[in-house]
Amino acid sequence: TTLPADAVVVGIGARPATGWLAGSGVEISAEDGSVLADEQLRTSVPDVYAVGDCASFPSTRYGSRLLIHHWDNALQGPRTVAENIARGGTEGLVYDPVPYFWSEQFGRFVQYAGHHGDADEMVWRGDPSGAAWSVLWLRGEEGPREGPAGGDEGGRGAGRLVALLAVGRPRDLAQGRKLIERGVALDRERAANAAVPLKAAAR
Ligand SMILES: Cc1cc2nc3c(=O)[nH]c(=O)nc-3n(C[C@H](O)[C@H](O)[C@H](O)COP(=O)(O)OP(=O)(O)OC[C@H]3O[C@@H](n4cnc5c(N)ncnc54)[C@H](O)[C@@H]3O)c2cc1C
Repeated sequence: TTLPADAVVVGIGARPATGWLAGSGVEISAEDGSVLADEQLRTSVPDVYAVGDCASFPSTRYGSRLLIHHWDNALQGPRTVAENIARGGTEGLVYDPVPYFWSEQFGRFVQYAGHHGDADEMVWRGDPSGAAWSVLWLRGEEGPREGPAGGDEGGRGAGRLVALLAVGRPRDLAQGRKLIERGVALDRERAANAAVPLKAAAR
């Protein structure tokens, strides 16, 4: 539908409303207002945990503190907390997921996995003007491959897959999510070829 308008207001993003926790002993981030959870989703107050949109946690996988506003995070975090409560505080599970969300936009199935803040390179898979395509974010550079004579073979090396956005390509998402979890490096040329299954681009 096309609607004529003089001005369009777009509201993007959200901030945790945690002001009411002031003075409770629960540590809050001065930067984004999130409850500062540790790697087991514990807060600074004993026996108090934090999950979902209000809580950030340190991710070893991505080397930074993550504040994730997605449904899947609000489902998976509580599982870790329930397990840790049942374990009675000893050898708790660490929460370090590959973040994931899906959405339907304009009749298209949109899925995202990972976190691409620190990625070095973006690789297109398919034509973005079409109905189905993906974008990959890679990190790290192995450098050009050497040819048999020791010279540069012209290959652009490999990068580790850290995130992926798939539009109408759920197979890319399913395979990519596993590759991200395992920290697998991809061959750039094969990864950019939408006719090659993504898992076949693994180095
Ligand atoms: C418009 C919109 C579209 C979205 N689309 C997607 C999507 O397509 N895919 C996706 O993965 N995610 C999407 N999300 C994000 C997803 O909905 C959230 O990540 C998820 O709901 C977070 O769950 P939660 O339980 O942490 O928080 P919430 O669902 O926000 O639940 C928190 C609850 O706590 C209550 N509350 C707050 N303060 C207090 C208080 N002081 N006392 C008592 N109760 C309180 C609130 O009323 C609320 O019911 C969308 C969010 C929005 C707003």
